[in-house]
Amino acid sequence: MPKQPQPLNPYYSRTDTAKLSVADAEWKVLLSRTLYKVARKGVTEQPFTGKYWDNESPGTYFCAVCGNRLFRSEEKFTSSSGWPSFLKTVRSNSVRYRKESAMEMEVLCGRCGSHLGHLYTDGPPPMGRRFSINSALLEFEADRDPSEDRS
Ligand SMILES: [Zn+2]
Repeated sequence: MPKQPQPLNPYYSRTDTAKLSVADAEWKVLLSRTLYKVARKGVTEQPFTGKYWDNESPGTYFCAVCGNRLFRSEEKFTSSSGWPSFLKTVRSNSVRYRKESAMEMEVLCGRCGSHLGHLYTDGPPPMGRRFSINSALLEFEADRDPSEDRS
């Protein structure tokens, strides 16, 4: 499937990092139904159903709502949870957090404030952090094939 960077969404940018303040009603018009439900209503997609939970290709993950750069494939690890799992974000301000319990934080996009998923404290050592992110909120762009560089 070709990726769809929401061509009608005027807030989408992969270079602009300025924080967005957009009303829910406006997002509802701009986003697909599925994306709106997960991003703005915090609905969690079913495990093992998203398009990226087992993606192992090298590349970068962007916010599907606003284009914010979120994660790199080097920080992705195979998790039995069935959701794309990462050790850390590209930048410390790529995301924001909202505490839900001692073991769990909600993870929001640092630019558009959309619900991305959760951060748990049961990740692999040494950091013990595990970002569990909904595939619906991610847009993946593969790196250029490294075999093309070989001579
Ligand atoms: Zn975003």
